[in-house]
Amino acid sequence: MKKKILIIGAGFGGLTAAKNLADTEFEITLIDKTNHHLFQPLLYQVATAALSPSDIAVPIRSLLSDNKNIKVILDEVISIDKNNHIVNFKDSQLEFDYLIVAVGARHSYFGKNEWEQLAPGLKTLTDALVIREKIIEALELAEKETNHELMKKYLTFVIVGGGPTGVELAGAIAEIAKETMIKDYKNFRPEDTKVFLIEAMDRILSSFDKKLSEQAKEDLMNMGVEVKLNAKVENISQDGVHTNQEFIPSKTIIWAAGNQASPLLKSLNVETDRAGRVIVKKDCSIPGNPEIFLIGDAAHFEEENGNVLPGVAQVAIQQGKFVAEVIKNQIPPERRPSFRYKDKGTMATIGKAKAVAEIKGLKLSGVIAWLAWSIVHIFFLIGFRNRFRVMIEWIWYYITKRHGTRLIVGK
Ligand SMILES: Cc1cc2nc3c(=O)[nH]c(=O)nc-3n(C[C@H](O)[C@H](O)[C@H](O)COP(=O)(O)OP(=O)(O)OC[C@H]3O[C@@H](n4cnc5c(N)ncnc54)[C@H](O)[C@@H]3O)c2cc1C
Repeated sequence: MKKKILIIGAGFGGLTAAKNLADTEFEITLIDKTNHHLFQPLLYQVATAALSPSDIAVPIRSLLSDNKNIKVILDEVISIDKNNHIVNFKDSQLEFDYLIVAVGARHSYFGKNEWEQLAPGLKTLTDALVIREKIIEALELAEKETNHELMKKYLTFVIVGGGPTGVELAGAIAEIAKETMIKDYKNFRPEDTKVFLIEAMDRILSSFDKKLSEQAKEDLMNMGVEVKLNAKVENISQDGVHTNQEFIPSKTIIWAAGNQASPLLKSLNVETDRAGRVIVKKDCSIPGNPEIFLIGDAAHFEEENGNVLPGVAQVAIQQGKFVAEVIKNQIPPERRPSFRYKDKGTMATIGKAKAVAEIKGLKLSGVIAWLAWSIVHIFFLIGFRNRFRVMIEWIWYYITKRHGTRLIVGK
């Protein structure tokens, strides 16, 4: 009988594993609670109306339609029974010989879950559309507002968290509010809008070289973003954000701070780190169950030097490939090699022709880093059609400075 491999999650890790197990003797089922593979690194561009959802998401089924041994299932796994080799859905279950768990992460509100309603985070297409509508709606409300104080509140945008996502969002919102969309509104001027980036540490982009963080901060400030360092959020309300330094009145607050693993992982009953990620062995399997692997953002993988791998796409992709090879070659647990991560570099964009990048010891900023960022993102996008469309959108935006997808379609 053919061995059954279940893969939960068709993000970077799960999809890579599935593709590397295609056309083998295994019977593979790839399960995802959404019907699309999402290119999260460009989500902020959907949230800021530069790209459409379909530019960065592809139906999973269409990506694997040529692979006869891979079945795709749209459903949410609610628990894993590791002893009986079963994954449970709400009203059915599936058995496995091997299991690859690649369920990614959600944002963490550090125990203040009530803030989620007021300050949405950015992980899914739905999140991006919620944020897009919030931004456009705030501008619309400001356009018809006669009370100056209230108008200021609508025109103040606060991003919490100075990691790559926060920086990218702050830069893109500053471009919208101070340069591009503003032209279409008659009731206020670019200088009436304010964009705050709040960071609890003493610098933004703390995973980058100090000089690059400094450069990113300077670029943002030149674009009109007020960067608040050592600022800890103490409360978020309908009226704005309270930090340990001040109160910022705002109707549009976006959360880009902290990650929390999926609650599904609890059902594995194994040791996790503070963010709920499963602490995996050197072959990415879990202790006591060498047939169950955890990869990508769901896994806490410690390198030999004690360094814990970051939650980035390259880690998920490389672990997906590694685990597929281990399974394909049916390597017994005691003979399995250790996973080794090859760091290909990190980058973050700040705005048009502004980015920072660290590639193999090389530290880049400005136009060169931005070109490198653009090429890498186009290259890693899945599907020729998406690459072509995103490139055209970027060229269009570069020339016209106009965002194309500014529709409000929610209630
Ligand atoms: C806004 C944003 C920007 C980012 N920018 C960058 C960047 O520039 N560079 C970079 O390297 N990384 C970036 N990242 C991080 C990168 O996207 C992640 O590290 C990567 O996606 C992790 O891959 P994964 O396969 O572990 O999980 P994901 O890609 O998150 O995929 C998880 C999949 O599992 C599915 N799933 C979850 N739970 C269940 C369940 N219970 N049942 C069924 N399916 C389930 C989800 O629907 C999803 O499709 C960014 C992330 C975000 C959110």
